[in-house]
Amino acid sequence: MEPLTFTPLLKQIRWGGRKLGSLLNKQIGTAADYAESWEIADHDSGQSVVAGGPFAGKSLRELIGSHRDELLGCQSHMAQFPLLMKFLDANDWLSLQVHPNDTQALTWNPQEKGKTEAWIIVAAEPDSLICAGLKHGVTRDEFQQCLHDGSIEKTLHLIPAIPGDCIYVPAQTVHAIGPGIVLAEVQQQSNLTFRLHDWGRVGADGQPREIHVEESLACIDFERGPVNPVVPVELDAGEHRSEELVCCDYFIIRRHCSETAFGVKLDGHFRILMVLDGHTELRTESVSLTLAKGQTVLLPASLLQADFIPSSSVTLLEILTP
Ligand SMILES: [Zn+2]
Repeated sequence: MEPLTFTPLLKQIRWGGRKLGSLLNKQIGTAADYAESWEIADHDSGQSVVAGGPFAGKSLRELIGSHRDELLGCQSHMAQFPLLMKFLDANDWLSLQVHPNDTQALTWNPQEKGKTEAWIIVAAEPDSLICAGLKHGVTRDEFQQCLHDGSIEKTLHLIPAIPGDCIYVPAQTVHAIGPGIVLAEVQQQSNLTFRLHDWGRVGADGQPREIHVEESLACIDFERGPVNPVVPVELDAGEHRSEELVCCDYFIIRRHCSETAFGVKLDGHFRILMVLDGHTELRTESVSLTLAKGQTVLLPASLLQADFIPSSSVTLLEILTP
């Protein structure tokens, strides 16, 4: 099985913009609100379809059915593809939200998982902010009181969005993404989101969007406190620089930056590659393809070789599950 590329699933939401097209080369239309590009999804809310090659037109779910071992290798016991990969263009604040963990998710929907996620900032305006967790010492009572009297913002841990930063957001963490930010998102295959606060806005119908205060309060880990950008762990400091950004129960994220050829070591796990900058050729034992900024590729677990020959320089994420 060769590397798989999928047709991006574009989601229009009022906080979106046009940078998925202008910055990441997505085929957007004329609207002003392209918010998310689901790059790899195996969910009822979005199912990735192979864009070309021998499996063109097949959905990811169909491929898991027909080529389970080749695709998933040592993880072929998985019924569903475990990760949801997105690019996001936040042109306004996303709602303040929280996701349940796996155990909590069962309370609301037995078909759903919890959602732990990580963001890698691709681009940001100089004054862009992210909310990642609560300030030190904010208690449930205080939080609830502030939610009630409209002063919730003073409880939030706000940090500047710096291109290249990675923010790891475990389930149960209060979070929001501010305007002017384009990012790559790695998350569990789940769509369970509870909104705490929507900054006083109304939807297209003039009504506020649904808020889930009770569910949110039941999910939040008030012991967690503020979340700061991860400190990358250097793996290779040569001409090909590689570092580990996240290693958790659900995913491992590595970043490769290089101007010269390099290989990614394969080990029977499927891998996802997201190009954050530059161009590169990808060579495997059977094919060669060109990858540009904004593209995502799934390397089936059966692949033996993955070498990269950047045209000038390339920055890419390598994502796998432990
Ligand atoms: Zn989220």
